Amino acid sequence: PLVLGIESSCDETGVGIVRGTELLANAVSSSMDEHVRFGGVIPEIASRAHLDAFVPTLRSALDTAGVTLEEVDALAVTSGPGLSGALMVGVAAAKALALATGKPLYAINHLVAHVGVGVLDGGDLPESLGALLVSGGHTEILKVDALASDVTLLGATIDDAAGEAYDKVARLLGLGYPGGPVIDRIAKEGNPKAIRFPRGLTMPKFTGTAENPGKHRYDFSFSGLKTAVARCVEQYRARGEEVPVADIAASFQEAVVDVVTSKAVLACREHGMSTLLLGGGVAANSRLRELLAARCASAGIALRVPRPGLCTDNGAMVAALAAQVVMAGGAPSGIGFAADSGQPVTAITL
Ligand code: ATP
Ligand code: MG
Ligand code: FE
Repeated sequence: PLVLGIESSCDETGVGIVRGTELLANAVSSSMDEHVRFGGVIPEIASRAHLDAFVPTLRSALDTAGVTLEEVDALAVTSGPGLSGALMVGVAAAKALALATGKPLYAINHLVAHVGVGVLDGGDLPESLGALLVSGGHTEILKVDALASDVTLLGATIDDAAGEAYDKVARLLGLGYPGGPVIDRIAKEGNPKAIRFPRGLTMPKFTGTAENPGKHRYDFSFSGLKTAVARCVEQYRARGEEVPVADIAASFQEAVVDVVTSKAVLACREHGMSTLLLGGGVAANSRLRELLAARCASAGIALRVPRPGLCTDNGAMVAALAAQVVMAGGAPSGIGFAADSGQPVTAITL
């Protein structure tokens, strides 16, 4: 099916067009630049930017794909999770298009769409699939038994998201926003073993054992790590010593990457998942890719990492998952649904 997908859950306005598992267009406009001076995404600014960007982004996607709205078989939109006001812009636009064209509309889960996008890069996804999603707003491990109908949340962060930790630590080190790319770069000049920062929720009292899993076996926590970095920086300053920025960046990054890769591999092993898909903006991280590839290889797990433009928020991922739902015979959502900022992964469509 020819599907047009709309994404507006955070700071990217995306319109993507797919035919089945083939990517035809992926137009994205980001309001990131408008948030830089605040050091984080400001919801009101993001919502307004979506209003301005939607029509030009839609036009650009249709032009690139060389199709008209009339030719589209189905429309899809991210209904949640995400920022309420931002989601509402995409949902209202999608409903308007559905009303105007009479096309069926599918309300799509943003997190599951980060997994579904995998079909656009490397073809169909196998059964028994695990997913590690790491972005500015999310850090989750999912078990995907059927993309269109059966997804389980195995673990999630109990405080900050991984990307959020990068952004906060970059601010502490005076490196600006967004923090991920700059820490990734500076860490290459530092020693990742210089400082042993805490690995959140990895103590046996949280993880339990294979036979008797603890409450937080697959969960993450990054706020303690952020505090540890802050204390470390303070100590150098209190002693009047120069802060070893590269060593701290490398050691912080090692702590994040060590925990997310080890828990993702553990979840795959314990749940019989033979393929792991990586998604979200932090998937761009070079050390994460390196360590995850190594740990998956030694555990016999096939790793799928979609190309960077498909890992960050975009409309093609929404279209790709909706096409899977259409092909599995899923019912359209109508136009009566509302954006749900807390939409759970078990609700793949509304
Ligand atoms: P959502 O959580 O809904 O996906 P988002 O806009 O917060 O939305 P993304 O756009 O997917 O998330 O990713 C942005 C995040 O990724 C930021 O926190 C940024 O610091 C982080 N990031 C980007 N590149 C890198 C990198 N090379 N290493 C680590 N983190 C990175
Ligand atoms: Mg973003
Ligand atoms: Fe996302």
